[in-house]
Amino acid sequence: MRNTRGTHVLVLNTGSSSVKYRLLDMADGSRPAGGLVERIGERTSYLRHDPAGGPRREREEPVADHATALEALAEELERDGLGLDSPELVAIGHRVVHGGRRFTEPTVIDEAVTAEIERLVPVAPLHNPANLAGIRTALSLAPDVPQVAVFDTAFHTTMPEHAARYAIDTAVADEHRVRRYGFHGTSHAYVSRGAAELLGREPSETNVIVLHLGNGASASAVAGGRCVDTSMGLTPLEGLVMGTRSGDIDPAVVFHLSRVAGMSVDEIDELLNRRSGLLGLCGDNDMREVLRRMDSDGPDAESARLAFDVYVHRLRKYVGAYCAVLGRVDAVAFTAGIGENAAPVRQAVMAGLRGLGMAVDPELNGAPGDGPRLISPPGSRVAVAVVPTDEELEIATQTYELVSGGTMGRK
Ligand code: ADP
Repeated sequence: MRNTRGTHVLVLNTGSSSVKYRLLDMADGSRPAGGLVERIGERTSYLRHDPAGGPRREREEPVADHATALEALAEELERDGLGLDSPELVAIGHRVVHGGRRFTEPTVIDEAVTAEIERLVPVAPLHNPANLAGIRTALSLAPDVPQVAVFDTAFHTTMPEHAARYAIDTAVADEHRVRRYGFHGTSHAYVSRGAAELLGREPSETNVIVLHLGNGASASAVAGGRCVDTSMGLTPLEGLVMGTRSGDIDPAVVFHLSRVAGMSVDEIDELLNRRSGLLGLCGDNDMREVLRRMDSDGPDAESARLAFDVYVHRLRKYVGAYCAVLGRVDAVAFTAGIGENAAPVRQAVMAGLRGLGMAVDPELNGAPGDGPRLISPPGSRVAVAVVPTDEELEIATQTYELVSGGTMGRK
């Protein structure tokens, strides 16, 4: 039997060619170690391990697959006395991208759960196989440690049917599980709660629009702590303009490109997922670069400006739509790489929205900061905030609550 008094949770985020990991101590919120393995399966892979209080260890060597990557990270943890057999380790929390309709909560992993994650591969062909590889290896390396799946989709399973349904033939939709699932759920959950806390209110009494703007980007409308709409759909392609993804598009564009340009389905998939968004519009998918070019007055300023404007216009449409969905909005919360760091994006999204009770104070917006903070003028009807996301902490918290039966004092 394992020592149930430990307080460490290992969070694993297994992507198609990378594994990111973080060990958290839930007793005091510290992070004893973390790291990543990148470029798995390529000629040389990159491994990095950061023990708290110790020097970084990094190296390049071939890492053939996810199993080898997890073995390597387990060895690194072992070197710091934090191995998978440490009595301190109470659970491993796995980020799983697609939980379909069934997984509405974090779930202890057993064979039935892995089978269901596998069954969902057709709706998440890029993500769920990698997540499964991580789960299977972790189960074999640490068979006695409880393992928990925390699903990106779970927070959105509270969406009402009228927000989750596409207006297509119901029989076709049901047979092929075509509906709106939403993603980035752990972030939307964490940030909507964080926004309520910042306002000193109960999440159950607070309505929040969350704008998660990273490489992938999504918006959500959260009413009293429950998601009622989100911008991503069957896949993470729908909704906002992203680094390389188009977001919303007339589906007839696909037929048009197929019929007129002779592109295959795979080519169009690649175009919309990897060569669109900011990258497609201006050649750069990094918002820092887009902002730099816009200010440069150089020959490529114009396309950067257009990319920025398209990006912001789409965001403003979602803010407006979610005001209508929620009826009353208490806060708009910006998060993730762009949301947390790009003051010009926040300024532009909120410009001219005083009619909706929303405004940004230029000084507060421009001031550096790394914690949750208000950027709206004092006394605004709607609080506009920056709430840094922490998906690893949220996964660890949900995992720990499940295996320890506690609520960690959460409101
Ligand atoms: P991921 O979705 O990969 O987790 P992140 O949340 O780390 O992404 O966000 C990555 C994005 O954040 C990139 O487009 C990057 O340009 C943007 N970003 C990071 N720092 C800044 C900054 N200081 N100003 C503008 N954009 C930034």
